Amino acid sequence: MTCGTRGRGAVIGAVLGLAVTAAGLPALAQTETPAPTWSLAIHGGAGTIERDRMTPAQDTAYREALEKALAAGSAVLAAGGSALDAVQAAVELMEDDPLFNAGRGAVFTAAGRNELDAAVMDGTNRAAGAVAGLTTTRHPIAAARAVMEKSPHVFLIGEGAETFAASQGLEQVPPSFFFTERRWQGLVQTLRQRGLPIPARPEGAPPPPAVPMADNDPSAPPLNERKFGTVGAVALDSHGRLAAATSTGGTSAKQWGRVGDVPVIGAGTYASNAEGCAVSATGDGEFYIRASVARDICARMAAGATGQAAGQAEVDDALSLGGYGGVIVMDRAGIPDFALTTSGMYRGAVSSAAPARVAIYADEEEQ
Ligand code: ASP
Repeated sequence: MTCGTRGRGAVIGAVLGLAVTAAGLPALAQTETPAPTWSLAIHGGAGTIERDRMTPAQDTAYREALEKALAAGSAVLAAGGSALDAVQAAVELMEDDPLFNAGRGAVFTAAGRNELDAAVMDGTNRAAGAVAGLTTTRHPIAAARAVMEKSPHVFLIGEGAETFAASQGLEQVPPSFFFTERRWQGLVQTLRQRGLPIPARPEGAPPPPAVPMADNDPSAPPLNERKFGTVGAVALDSHGRLAAATSTGGTSAKQWGRVGDVPVIGAGTYASNAEGCAVSATGDGEFYIRASVARDICARMAAGATGQAAGQAEVDDALSLGGYGGVIVMDRAGIPDFALTTSGMYRGAVSSAAPARVAIYADEEEQ
């Protein structure tokens, strides 16, 4: 199902109070809304997220979590802090929240492990840092930032990345820190469907619950839910700097050291002040890599496209290959845009000129 169209995406912008007209132009000239001096947009994953499958408690829990992440990032920006610090603050909050597939609450590999990927990019100089396959670093986004700022490299993986993160003083936790019952049950279900063996519960995980999770437990998945749950943030700070950050556990039951688009610079994450864009993606990573979604959005914007048009063209391109998902885009004027090809994407935005807004469903109207 394709829920995304250029028109609908523009409506989402407007619904979120994001100063975008139906033509994709900033509403500033028409409404005299002051131009934002800083601006932040976030996502918590896209996928099959439908109203009638979400309980009120789940709906509320996600909205509150998004609001908290917006508050963390906007506190940095409102105090004159950097776009990099803001996207990291927002992403770290979501990494700690078991509702999202990043950090604690990440999906499991087929072998029953949490292997975490993240990337960050500084638009001012196109410096970037990425990590893949982390298992003990509490905040993978902090590890990606350290790769960017404290190493001569861009992309570190596995044990080496973990050793580097620890050497930089980043908090290390036992792998069971990332365990959640919800994701474990999701893994078991997926492995059964695929006829794959079910691994032993990870060491240090709590014993299985005696009573199955209740439907109104916000941490319980809606039945047959198919969503991704990656988290990301894009920001413009009051010095005009753009940055993007993305963090994920990848896809449930992934095998053989699989890495998706998130830490691949130009696929799931990209920022460039020269081109006036910052992008964070969520979706079927294999297709987002093949479509080089984030980089191509920036190229389209450099050629004059709005963030909305560029974002929608690229998520549509990924869909033409077979991959669903969504993106958040920030332009140099601080206008955030959202584009998706799924029935929902957890998302939100806030700026110096507009209060925090969050949305979940693709067709969502005013909150
Ligand atoms: N894009 C991520 C991946 O393929 C999954 C997600 O967006 O949740 O690893």
